[in-house]
Amino acid sequence: MAVAELKYPEVKNYIKGRFVDSDDAKIDVISPLDGSLLSRVPDSGSKALDEAVKAAKEAFPAWSAMPIKERVQILFNYRNLLQKYRDELTELIHLENGKIKSEAAAEVDKAIELTEFAVSLPQIIPGEILEVSKGVDCKTERMALGVVASITPFNFPCMVPNWTIPNVIALGNCMILKPSEHVPLTANRLAEILKEAGLPDGVFSVVNGTREIVEGICDHPDIKAVSFVGSTKVAKIVYKRATGTLKRCLALGGAKNHLLVLPDAQVEMTASNIAASMSGCAGQRCMAASAMVGVGKIDHIIDKVCEESRKIVPGENLGSVISKEAKERIERYITEAEKAGAKVLVDGRNATVKGSEGGFYVGPTVIDYVTPDMAIAKEEVFGPVLAIMRASTLDDAIAIENSSTYGNAAAVFTQSGGLAKYVTEKASAGMIGVNIGVPVPREPFSFGGWNESRFGSGDITGKSSIEFWTQMKKTTIKWNPEARTNWMS
Ligand code: NAD
Repeated sequence: MAVAELKYPEVKNYIKGRFVDSDDAKIDVISPLDGSLLSRVPDSGSKALDEAVKAAKEAFPAWSAMPIKERVQILFNYRNLLQKYRDELTELIHLENGKIKSEAAAEVDKAIELTEFAVSLPQIIPGEILEVSKGVDCKTERMALGVVASITPFNFPCMVPNWTIPNVIALGNCMILKPSEHVPLTANRLAEILKEAGLPDGVFSVVNGTREIVEGICDHPDIKAVSFVGSTKVAKIVYKRATGTLKRCLALGGAKNHLLVLPDAQVEMTASNIAASMSGCAGQRCMAASAMVGVGKIDHIIDKVCEESRKIVPGENLGSVISKEAKERIERYITEAEKAGAKVLVDGRNATVKGSEGGFYVGPTVIDYVTPDMAIAKEEVFGPVLAIMRASTLDDAIAIENSSTYGNAAAVFTQSGGLAKYVTEKASAGMIGVNIGVPVPREPFSFGGWNESRFGSGDITGKSSIEFWTQMKKTTIKWNPEARTNWMS
């Protein structure tokens, strides 16, 4: 197909403040909304990475020497430009990811909030100083690491890159972003916006590709730290490889989030929260409600969840999933669960959208009488599918949640404060909700799961991320040679 037939010009790597041609093989960028070809993206390797690292190393001394109060002025501009280009970014995210426009716009709003946190960093990170002996001061400061990299998934083309971009840059590092090959257009637009905000060339670069470039990032001797967000399978590979070359690494993986529903839960609120959590972003959220565990008699709530789910219509208030393979995988999970004895109450298989027949849609799906041994109960489906399991006691329900290898989020729906507290204490997950289906902590609180949903220590956003992206310098100072000292000096 000729380049002229692409809806968007071919994607290029963004290095040292400009888009550069490459002779790497190209990957098609398909819009999951209708299966049309949007663009092509290079599957780059070590050459592009070396150039980006070189540019970042050159930019680092001046960037890290600039006072943080000056660095965040550029991020202040970036925040305002994200606001200015909100509609344009919304359209790009919608086209390349397939989520509905209101969800795409919410991603941009979240990127703005993340940047506002970074702009506030000068108020949060001042070091400490103390006279530790007579005439001797000890002070601590947070220093940048150098060149760092961030590898991101397809499901949030704007928000997840912005989990790292503003904090990393504000803290004085130079950063290389490796976005998902499914959604490279938004990432490159962010690079242009950062330049317009006044970011010096080389401080931020974007390299595209898949496995080879990710492995190159893990191995590169001049990259000091790597963050990764994606599936658990790849998170494990990246964490082992990056730490194997003695880098700092924080790798966030997949999820299987359980919602525990008690019979006293407020019916309307619970049902609408569960349906929205299961189907938002077509279930392609690491915070999606993927499994519901009903305790005791909860059929009245399940009926209402089904009623709410039927109001969710592909192409209207439900976006597409990312690819044909994703659609087939999700439908396979539903069919296998049905064959294993589960009951499909709302069936989203074979969904199509009139006028977008080439799109990859799965309708909302509610499956009851799933048992904990079924694949759909244990594995990440990553689609708008709710697997309902039944438990006779709250402890049995907690045991099901605890048996998951993942541990991103869990939530409880009840009107009892005591029972809610019991679940928040016992659930084995990093982010817990009480009567909330998507318990994403907002800034300044940090985002991160437990178990196989996260490898490494600390969280990726908020105050917790400061530790990951900086190193502490401790300086001991004595000016007065006559100062009376004690045993330590
Ligand atoms: P993915 O793991 O397939 O890809 C993530 C990144 O890794 C992409 O940039 C991709 O190019 C690269 N990659 C893919 N295969 C690779 C390989 N073999 N070697 C090296 N690099 C490789 O994930 P995805 O499908 O893009 O995103 C969906 C997954 O991300 C889900 O599992 C979801 O739960 C997870 N996710 C987790 C969080 C979280 O906070 N824990 C947030 C968002 C998404």
